Amino acid sequence: ETFPGDFSGNPMQRITPKVVFSTTLPAGFESPQLIAFNEKLSDEIGLGKFEDTDLDFLVGNNLPANIQSYATAYAGHQFGNWAGQLGDGRAILAGEIINSSGQKTEIQWKGSGATPYSRHADGRAVLRSSVREYLMSEAMYHLGVPTTRALSLCFTGENVIRDMMYDGNPQNEKGAVIIRTAESFLRFGHYELASAQREYNTLQELLDYTIQNYFPEIISSDTEKYKDFFKNVCTRTADMITEWFRVGFVHGVMNTDNMSILGLTIDYGPYSMMDEYDLNFTPNTTDLPGRRYAFGKQGQISQWNLWQLANALHPIIKDEKFLEDTLNNYGTYFWETHDKMLCKKFGFDELLEGDEEFFSNWQGLMQELQFDHTLFFNQLEKLKVESDLKSLFKDISYTDLTDDLLKKLAHFIEKYKERLSKNSISKEESLHLMQKTNPKFILRNYLLYQCIDEVNEGKTELLKKLTHALENPYHEIYPEFSVKRPGNYDDISGCSTLS
Ligand code: AMP
Ligand code: MG
Ligand code: MG
Repeated sequence: ETFPGDFSGNPMQRITPKVVFSTTLPAGFESPQLIAFNEKLSDEIGLGKFEDTDLDFLVGNNLPANIQSYATAYAGHQFGNWAGQLGDGRAILAGEIINSSGQKTEIQWKGSGATPYSRHADGRAVLRSSVREYLMSEAMYHLGVPTTRALSLCFTGENVIRDMMYDGNPQNEKGAVIIRTAESFLRFGHYELASAQREYNTLQELLDYTIQNYFPEIISSDTEKYKDFFKNVCTRTADMITEWFRVGFVHGVMNTDNMSILGLTIDYGPYSMMDEYDLNFTPNTTDLPGRRYAFGKQGQISQWNLWQLANALHPIIKDEKFLEDTLNNYGTYFWETHDKMLCKKFGFDELLEGDEEFFSNWQGLMQELQFDHTLFFNQLEKLKVESDLKSLFKDISYTDLTDDLLKKLAHFIEKYKERLSKNSISKEESLHLMQKTNPKFILRNYLLYQCIDEVNEGKTELLKKLTHALENPYHEIYPEFSVKRPGNYDDISGCSTLS
């Protein structure tokens, strides 16, 4: 890669060499309104109960005197291309809060106004994308997937203009601010920026800071610690992507500026949970026709992103062979982790010879049968020796189950039963493994559409109901959510990146 460090030709781009962050203030909003507040999270991080006066803080008004808010500079590779300097364009950090057990959490407003890194954009967020991030990040947390979290969702009382809404028309949309939290919001792009600007001292300081604060497991010194760090980031990333495959999550914009260095799912934009199983599924309308970030590609893409991080760390780690070997081993580690995860979904106690082939047959079959990913495993848990397959699976397909397809399904289920008989755990243990691996509730995209429409009209009933459901994803609380997507929502996407 070549790194064009000079953006002087682009008046929209404010270049800030030797700068890791800039202090900046939220814009402030005159008539904000609370939509949702996450009391459990507030408690956990040490913020305590919500008081009416807190609303001003939640949208970035009246900051406590000891707060010095700031936005950070980062860079990134977007859709495979070096995009140069980016940064927190509509996110502002309030700083860190420490709870009674000493755990630190960063607090960030999103949509609170322009920062030095907003370029041509307004630094605002629309209600639509704010609802999506607020609900989905919490849904992922309760599913057990590493993620940033969401503390609050507020109307700003102002409208935001976007060129095009998801229905294709230019719109004035309601503006919103969320507060999101994470142990750290550091991204691959932060390291890429320092490296591209050849500020290797800054890069090293940033690495030391990261390791010291967030990777206590690394006790090696000198260059060894940077190697351990890179290996660690690879492992955390593979583990996160495996979790995405477990629950059927498609991120949609896996640019390196959207890759957390801690292996957290971050930046909930045009993502979607997958309904019918489809390796080519992308919810991001700006990712067509290439489908770079399709569901089935997320493993390979994470490796590509780690290559970019390796390039950035190269001036510090220097050992090319180490970096190449680590990256080449990534695929092996990823697929092994992935296959072990699939074992659990099927109720297998360990990965046996032949399982890999079983899984790839399953993928092909799912694609052909257009089965709902989540409901398939829920129904599989109900499989008995004498089950009638047609009635067991009739309601989970998005296509007609022809006799030919049913025959293929029957053949697969025979293979599955054979494989189950090789388990060294009991039937009960196997079922239990499936039940804790396969969610019963996922936050489907069509539910988000319905919820956004309601919140836009000032109603929060569905939002509350979805919150209750997503906090208990391994239980069926509302049977009406345990069905496949209704036909009238067949053409929805996760939206483009216009948010
Ligand atoms: P994303 O596609 O959401 O990951 O955003 C890519 C970059 O654009 C990031 O640096 C964002 O901070 C910035 N950005 C996106 N939307 C806005 C906005 N409305 N105002 C300012 N910056 C934005
Ligand atoms: Mg982003
Ligand atoms: Mg975003």
